[in-house]
Amino acid sequence: MNKISKILILLAPLLLFAPPAKAYQDYGVEKVRFHSYLTYTRVVLEVSGEVGYIIRDLTNPPRLLINLYPAKLTSLERKIDIRDRFVQRLRLSQDSEHVTRVVLDLMNSEYTYDIFSLKSPHRLVIEVKSPREDPIADLLKPREFPYSSSESVSEENLRVYKVILDPGHGGEDPGAIGSTGLKEKEVSLAVALEVANLLKDEAGIDVYLTRTDDRFIPLDQRTEMANQWGGDLFVSIHANAAFNRKASGIETFFNSRYLYGEGAAEVAARENAPLGDDDVSGEVKAILWDLMQDRYRDESNELSHFVQRKLYQATYLEDRGVKSAGFYVLRGAAMPAILVEIGFISNPWEEQKLRKEEFRKKIALGIFRGIKDYLESYNERLSR
Ligand SMILES: [Zn+2]
Repeated sequence: MNKISKILILLAPLLLFAPPAKAYQDYGVEKVRFHSYLTYTRVVLEVSGEVGYIIRDLTNPPRLLINLYPAKLTSLERKIDIRDRFVQRLRLSQDSEHVTRVVLDLMNSEYTYDIFSLKSPHRLVIEVKSPREDPIADLLKPREFPYSSSESVSEENLRVYKVILDPGHGGEDPGAIGSTGLKEKEVSLAVALEVANLLKDEAGIDVYLTRTDDRFIPLDQRTEMANQWGGDLFVSIHANAAFNRKASGIETFFNSRYLYGEGAAEVAARENAPLGDDDVSGEVKAILWDLMQDRYRDESNELSHFVQRKLYQATYLEDRGVKSAGFYVLRGAAMPAILVEIGFISNPWEEQKLRKEEFRKKIALGIFRGIKDYLESYNERLSR
């Protein structure tokens, strides 16, 4: 026993009589941040001083419980939805006078975690990850989509699909700009939000958007987010442009190392342009990304046809068909993934149409119907 312990034991009777409010200086939990990565989720708690903590992992349902002390809650949200591959939500409560409780509700019971504190500012960092060694190999394994064939499918256990919508461009990257100034990033967002509403309201499908406002997101981060969310489908929405102002119509793409379809190379070159220098950190990663999407090429091709057909029926714009090329924004997706070009912003007549809310709604309806029909046909095949 060291000296300090001895002194504490001697002082214990005195401390018991001391008013508790003075014995502790509570530190405030001031900010909660989280970030979803492909292989783990990081939660950061900013605290006004160095707090102690006790962590326990609980099962049924799986969750991590962290008690911080001496700490008190400030005016933070008490419940934060995270909904990625590892963590469902985070909950905060004042467990007792000096103890703040943080609960991470986890997505599944197979996980490991790290917890550590950092200084200036004081932070407690919790990282939840898969216990598997190689997440890339894991992602490259064929998935049960959406069931293993031995399972019977009934109405009740039809799973809720997760559709990831990706409004093209954003922030400093406007995408194509029309002769009267309409920006692709604005049209793609408006249409994606409309598709999201339809999927949620009309079909009860879970929808995630890579952006909901005017911000820049690097291309590879978009599929990384989609993988993190455990999406079933990835749909990137864009408007087209060409030197020839008469070029018009709608076309749908899936990722392939082989070009297919007239003008596919030009569209891919334009859509790949926002790729920053460090977006693809190396050839190995790029090859893995391509392999990843290769697994879903047939499904992506099929989804393209469903969406292209319904989009044509909803808009009667020129049908330019389904094409393929190498798209950075699609290649890393561990799910069927397509890129829809909803009309030519460089064509003055189509630019005017793309400006109108009524026409945007038509486009959204077409994309929505294509996705819905695709998922229904998938379910039908599985239940046969
Ligand atoms: Zn675009």
